[in-house]
Amino acid sequence: MAENSTKVQLGFGAMRLPQTDANNPATIEMEEFTQMVDYYMEQGFDYFDTSYAYHGETSEDALKKALVERYPRESYRIADKIPTWLLTKESDNEDLVNTMLERLGIDYFDVLLIHNINNVFINLAESAKSFEYIKKAKEEGKALKIGISYHDKEDLLEEVLEKYSDIIDIVQIQLNYMDWNDQRIQSKKLHRLCVKYGVEIIVMEPIKGGTLVNVADSVKQQFEEYSDNSIADWALRFAASQENVSIVLSGMSNLEQMKENCETFKNFEKITRDEHRFLMKMAREIKKTLAIDCSFCGYCVKECEMNIPIPDFFNLYNSEKLYSLEANFANYATAAGSNAPASACTQCRTCVDYCTQQLDIPELLLDVADLFEP
Ligand code: SF4
Ligand code: SF4
Repeated sequence: MAENSTKVQLGFGAMRLPQTDANNPATIEMEEFTQMVDYYMEQGFDYFDTSYAYHGETSEDALKKALVERYPRESYRIADKIPTWLLTKESDNEDLVNTMLERLGIDYFDVLLIHNINNVFINLAESAKSFEYIKKAKEEGKALKIGISYHDKEDLLEEVLEKYSDIIDIVQIQLNYMDWNDQRIQSKKLHRLCVKYGVEIIVMEPIKGGTLVNVADSVKQQFEEYSDNSIADWALRFAASQENVSIVLSGMSNLEQMKENCETFKNFEKITRDEHRFLMKMAREIKKTLAIDCSFCGYCVKECEMNIPIPDFFNLYNSEKLYSLEANFANYATAAGSNAPASACTQCRTCVDYCTQQLDIPELLLDVADLFEP
């Protein structure tokens, strides 16, 4: 098990903020979000993570109102991400970064990342010379630290680090106990590569979009029998216990989650060897109960020209496989009626490049349609 000697901080991920309309990500509930910002700052934390794309491109503006306009610049850090999928030419980097700075109302980023590097988007980033751009941005003081957020396997990460580890300071990776030994996500292998190349690690999806909290009752019972710790606490502690990890991001959606997560980090205790073994066992148990391994990040949704609510359908599919509830069919009918049914998928595969969990979305939608549209 890896050791971590530095103090790890809870990062406030601004991608799953409270909304006034659950079906419209651009409707951030500012009053609760502002309370969450205040609570987080009061507890002595200072790291905010956003992107050009989050919440239908409104996350940065919400941070400006709740944080930037209300606190001195030196009291917080902001990480933002260049939307790689929008890059068509070199000058796009500067244009996008200027938009991001303007939306946030700041004149430098504490961390500037190239967003969602995978085997498709790496080509866009390299064609647009984004690595050269972020290096220049750091030299000019537009960013204090630079790096990438990464969603692919170890072989590509090794290539990227071999080429760019002398430029980049940070790699943001998906790391949680369920994906630690997963063949698709490869958290452990990615982590080891980052350590080998000496880059700082920021963890995303430590709770896997809620998957590691909303576990089956049989799994919950095993956690309760093992200790009094909350299930979220286990997931955050696992991520924070790994070497080179400086920040563990949590996309908190309400004040209650915020309070619970802050407690974990204020009273942080590293995972022991026995606990590590227990979590590896729990990972296997959770996998047995999970039909579709979606993290509910929503990246695919805006790319689907058929307007299929993909993560909502995957959530209902998982629920139905686990609990067989009549309500799942009713909820499916409602979502399909106001958007589009799974059977509307044209198998165009546009969404696949955007999937942070590397799922074969069109193939899985065939299963969803089989289950809910007999
Ligand atoms: S493959 Fe299906 S779900 Fe994916 S973008 Fe095309 S129509 Fe939408
Ligand atoms: S299918 Fe993939 S991209 Fe879409 S919400 Fe799930 S993990 Fe995210």
